[in-house]
Amino acid sequence: MTLPDPFLKSIRDAVGEKAMITDAGDREPYLVEERGLLRGDSDLVVRPATTDEVAAVVRACAAAKIPVVPLGGRTGLVGGGVAAGGIILSTERMTGIREVDALNLTITVEAGCVLADVQTAAAEADCLFPLSLGAEGSCRIGGNISTNAGGVGVLRYGNTRALVLGLEVVLPDGRIWTGLNGLRKDNTGYDLKQLFIGAEGTLGIITAAVLTMFPKPRTTVTALAAVNDLGGVMEVFARTRAACGDRLTAFETLSRRCVEFDLAHVPGAVDPFAAPHPHYVLIEATSPRAGDPLRDDLEVVLGAALEDGVVADAVFAESENQRKQIWMLRETIPEAQKGEGASIKHDVAVPVSRVKTFIEEATRAVEAAMPDIRVVAFGHIGDGNIHFNLSQPAGGDPKEFRDATGMLNRIVHDIVASMNGSISAEHGIGLVKRDELAHYKDAIDIDLMRTVKRALDPDNIMNPGKIVQT
Ligand SMILES: Cc1cc2nc3c(=O)[nH]c(=O)nc-3n(C[C@H](O)[C@H](O)[C@H](O)COP(=O)(O)OP(=O)(O)OC[C@H]3O[C@@H](n4cnc5c(N)ncnc54)[C@H](O)[C@@H]3O)c2cc1C
Repeated sequence: MTLPDPFLKSIRDAVGEKAMITDAGDREPYLVEERGLLRGDSDLVVRPATTDEVAAVVRACAAAKIPVVPLGGRTGLVGGGVAAGGIILSTERMTGIREVDALNLTITVEAGCVLADVQTAAAEADCLFPLSLGAEGSCRIGGNISTNAGGVGVLRYGNTRALVLGLEVVLPDGRIWTGLNGLRKDNTGYDLKQLFIGAEGTLGIITAAVLTMFPKPRTTVTALAAVNDLGGVMEVFARTRAACGDRLTAFETLSRRCVEFDLAHVPGAVDPFAAPHPHYVLIEATSPRAGDPLRDDLEVVLGAALEDGVVADAVFAESENQRKQIWMLRETIPEAQKGEGASIKHDVAVPVSRVKTFIEEATRAVEAAMPDIRVVAFGHIGDGNIHFNLSQPAGGDPKEFRDATGMLNRIVHDIVASMNGSISAEHGIGLVKRDELAHYKDAIDIDLMRTVKRALDPDNIMNPGKIVQT
């Protein structure tokens, strides 16, 4: 799509030539999705520095009916930021921390702040901003809010949605909606910010946010336990949650296959116990109280589980280094999986009470469809979020395996749907899951989504074609 000269002039007037990237080589990184699986198309990347500049750019797009795709850290995995013509608007120059209010436990940041920088700013105020995920060194808070990012702390602190108190958004007609309040109680009509959280840039461009912080943890205990079966995994979860209450911050599970992939492909990965075990659980509990007897509480839980035969072995991290070693086993699984050839990934959620049945049923079903397939199941079991990933048969043909994606997706997602689960627990819908959403969502859901989209964006210029087709 060639951009008309009067439009280019209005963008130049809005942000200046220096904030416009037109050179093909310089545009390239903004066009390619994180894993290189999808490639977009756009002749112009605009990098505004202020909310007013974003508004002026969007007004120009609205006047010319030219699509605009917002982009943050470009770590999204479902093609939400992949442009099909029009312009790309990057928030990467909007990195200001506008206010830290330690008494109100809030931090007000611009959309382009890198997540790790928000965490650091909170820590400098002796507080915690708890959103944490593998991409935190490069993803940006506007992207996190737009994808309602999850990560490892959801069990204790909720998704990003639970961490947002207020938003500032440039609407598809270029007006600036200022909902930047730091209130925990506000019952003045519709909670409009919720529309934009998880909207993947289809309803407006988030330019700033008020986020909630928490008291900084003073005690952290991390343990890894080996468990014989999935029933045991869920039993350890229930016991740990009962003992720790909301001090339980993370409860992750990984199968032996995950650990084996790590050992094969991740430098420095170490088998955590002398003998292999079918499943492992990673438990982390934190408390804002120095000297909280968390370690004692967890030792009691794991000691009893060892005696009952629910747990086969367990180890506590005795140093920050050991803590990192334990987390490394969990966080490097996606990287390790790459070393095993082609993979097909399902980031799904079911009620916690159905996790065991889901993994067992889905494993049986995909193995029946493709006997040598390798199930790589791991995830945030405490939230019911399972990464039900599949690796190609060892030594098989990657293309043949990828060609089976539709068939395997249908098997896995049908089981998810039968359990009232979600086909997208994290990451969103973007382009990659749009057809699956249309297949599984109730017609009324889709109709309401389209109604909202048309009401806010009648000309369909704001990240068109993502989530739902209008
Ligand atoms: C190694 C790795 C680990 C990951 N782990 C997790 C995880 O544990 N949990 C999880 O949820 N995700 C995870 N992700 C996915 C990704 O990091 C998240 O989706 C993240 O929130 C995206 O942020 P971003 O700034 O990179 O957004 P982008 O990729 O730039 O954009 C994502 C979507 O948001 C829209 N968008 C971006 N900024 C704005 C804005 N200011 N206003 C409106 N719309 C906007 C885009 O149009 C696009 O649709 C991981 C990714 C990687 C590479």
